[in-house]
Amino acid sequence: MKTIIEFRGITKRYGPVVAVDNVSLAIGEGEFFALLGPSGCGKTTLLRMLAGFEQPTRGQVLIDGEDYTRVPPNRRPVNMVFQSYAVFPHMTVAANIEYGLKMDGVARAERRDRAREALALVQLEGYDERMPDQLSGGQRQRVALARALVKRPRVVLLDEPLSALDAKLREELRFELSRLQDKVGITFVMVTHDQDEALALATRCAVMHKGSLVQVATPADLYEFPSSRLVADFIGSVNLFEGRVVEDHSDHALIDLPEIGIRAWLDHGTGASGTVQIWLAVRPEKMELHKRANGEAPPVMEGTPGGHNVVAGIITDIAYLGSESVYEVRTEAGKILRVIRPNLTRWDQEDFTWDEPVWLGWHAEAAAVLLQ
Ligand code: ADP
Ligand code: MG
Repeated sequence: MKTIIEFRGITKRYGPVVAVDNVSLAIGEGEFFALLGPSGCGKTTLLRMLAGFEQPTRGQVLIDGEDYTRVPPNRRPVNMVFQSYAVFPHMTVAANIEYGLKMDGVARAERRDRAREALALVQLEGYDERMPDQLSGGQRQRVALARALVKRPRVVLLDEPLSALDAKLREELRFELSRLQDKVGITFVMVTHDQDEALALATRCAVMHKGSLVQVATPADLYEFPSSRLVADFIGSVNLFEGRVVEDHSDHALIDLPEIGIRAWLDHGTGASGTVQIWLAVRPEKMELHKRANGEAPPVMEGTPGGHNVVAGIITDIAYLGSESVYEVRTEAGKILRVIRPNLTRWDQEDFTWDEPVWLGWHAEAAAVLLQ
């Protein structure tokens, strides 16, 4: 993958606030890249430095290998779609889209053609003469997108592009945005605090925390192979256990989990050489729920020799979400764990209920080992 954008050691301070802290990052041509993190972690600031609206305190911004750190926004091959629908309320849709081209001195006929083309891309054919107040929120956001695309930038920057829309529309536009990016082949860099949005859209994500990058990976790798508790916890929901490595071999490891009073079996070594304290992360959908009757032996979890990765508990809460149900289980030691089961049939044969004694367990390959 050819690199199109490179941040080199970028720091941005506002007085005593370090908004972005020594970030180095390369983004490939044609990627749909997401900057993901909680509010205030520096995402917008980083994006604005790429657009040229902010100057870094230190470091460089390269586009296509050239240093753009001091180049003004209008001379960069990037175009930004803002969080709030940045359309001019007193101009028609067509005039809004053509505005940037007019500023660049593009002739009228070509402006018209390119605006039509951009409107078709965002599925708003025939809306040329509408005024923004005659559009829905989703349509206004598409106009803002068309306005960015019409200039044929190398890179489109999107700051929380869907956050002002309601849930249903957000999901629809998510698919549309992804199709559109695929079709035009332009590099997209999106800022979002919404992990679902980032996972659904991005080819790769950078998770930010307090101005720094904590992990850069594909959505699937962020979810399945988080590099820290922070990422595991931020991306989706997770059961986290403090652990102590008691045996570490190349093909398996044993971890003491004092919080729930059991030993976990892993089907690989931990690589935690010399580390006493580690953490195990098990996603709720990778947890199994089994009925528990007095005197019965615990079920054997796949990939383990038996007696491992299983803990006794009581169901304390159930949330029925239609497509799946979420169970909260309290272990005997008092730790609350979470299990998700898809509702595969219309009648759940097993029918777990409140206060029911259960076994909770996970396969040998289900847990991620975290060293920090
Ligand atoms: P995010 O987009 O991730 O929510 P921002 O990049 O907007 O975060 O902000 C990062 C930090 O920088 C925050 O602490 C914010 O208050 C601060 N900040 C952003 N812009 C300014 C500014 N113009 N002046 C002072 N502080 C700012
Ligand atoms: Mg922001």
